[in-house]
Amino acid sequence: MRILITGGAGFLGSHLSERLLLEGHEVVCMDNFFTGRKCNITHLLDNPYFELMRHDVVDPFKLEVDQIYNLACPASPVHYQHNPIKTTKTSVMGAINCLGLAKRVNARVFQASTSEVYGDPSVHPQPESYWGNVNTIGIRSCYDEGKRCAETLFFDYHRQNQVDIRVVRIFNTYGPRMLADDGRVVSNFIVQALQGQDITVYGEGQQTRSFCYVDDLIEGFVGLMNQDQVIGPMNIGNPGEFTILELAQKVIELTGSKSQIVYRPMPEDDPKQRQPDITQAKAVLGWEPKVQLEAGLKKTIEYFAQQL
Ligand code: NAD
Ligand code: UDP
Repeated sequence: MRILITGGAGFLGSHLSERLLLEGHEVVCMDNFFTGRKCNITHLLDNPYFELMRHDVVDPFKLEVDQIYNLACPASPVHYQHNPIKTTKTSVMGAINCLGLAKRVNARVFQASTSEVYGDPSVHPQPESYWGNVNTIGIRSCYDEGKRCAETLFFDYHRQNQVDIRVVRIFNTYGPRMLADDGRVVSNFIVQALQGQDITVYGEGQQTRSFCYVDDLIEGFVGLMNQDQVIGPMNIGNPGEFTILELAQKVIELTGSKSQIVYRPMPEDDPKQRQPDITQAKAVLGWEPKVQLEAGLKKTIEYFAQQL
C-alpha cells in the first residue's frame, strides 16, 4: 500500500515509518519540522519506498494514497503551549484536510488521539466510554479540545460521508527519539539524571501516569488500522501505573545517577491520575503491552546516553 503519515518525522511517526517500510509498504512522510527532526528519518531517505514531503497539515494537500495516519501535532505541553492557536489549528484543520483527502481517494484514515481527551479524569482507570473532564479555557485546552474536536470530525465524516476511520487514544508513550528538551517527564528525568542535574518533580510527585514503550504502541497502531471489527476510539497504553516520584526514583536507580530530586510547582490543570482500560484492545486486537517500564527505560536511557 501507499501510506501517508502526517507528522512522520516526529517521535512516533519515525517509528511508524520504519515499521510500515519493513512490511513492504510505500511511505509518504509529511512534516513541517516543528518538533520533528530530519535525523529521525535520515536512515530512511535512501529507501526508494520512502518519500519526504515538507508540508503543513493546516494547508490542503492532494495525494494518491491507500491509508493515512494523522499524527501531525506537537505532543508535549512545552511545545503545544508555545503557540496554542496553531496547536488547535493543527488538530482541527489537519483532521479536516486528512478526512477530505480520505473521502476523495477512498483511503482509510487513522487519528492519533490522546488520553488527554479524558482531562483530569474522575473515572479510573479510563474506559473508552468515559466522556472526560476537560477544562475548555485552560493552558492545556488548545491540545485537549483540539484533539476532542478532531475526534468529533472523524466520527462526523464517518456518519455523513462514510469515510473509513480508525481512532486511537494514546496514553503517555516513551522511547528513543523523544526530544531531549521537550519537557515530557521521561525524557526530562533521563536527561537530568545523565547530566547529573536535579530531577524536577512537579507538585509532590503523587500524580500518576501509565507509560507505554514505543514498540508496543506501534504494534497497537498497526493492529487497529488493519482490522475491520471496530473503528474506535480505542485506548492503547500500558496499564502499569506509577507516581511521578516513583518514576524519578526508578530513573535514578537505573542510571546510577547522583542527581537529587527537587520539587517544583505543579503546572495548571495537570491531571492527577491516568491509567488506560485496555479491555477493548485485548479483546479485539489480542493486543497488550509486552515491554515493562524497567526494560523500556533501559533502552531509552541507552539512546539518550548516546545522544548527549
Ligand atoms: P512529536 O512532536 O515528536 O511528533 C509530532 C510531529 O508532527 C512532529 O514531527 C512535528 O514536526 C509534526 N507537526 C506538528 N505540527 C505540524 C503541522 N502543522 N504540519 C505538519 N507536521 C506537523 O510527538 P509524538 O509523540 O510523536 O506524537 C505524535 C502524535 O501522537 C501527536 O498527534 C500526538 O498528539 C499523539 N500522541 C502522542 C502521545 C505520546 O505520549 N507520545 C500521547 C498521546 C497522543
Ligand atoms: N512532570 C514532572 N517533572 C518534569 C516533567 C513533567 O514532574 O520535569 C510531571 C507533569 O507535571 C505530569 C507528568 O510528569 O504530571 C507527565 O508529564 P508529561 O508532560 O510527560 O505528560 P502529560 O502531563 O501530558 O501526561
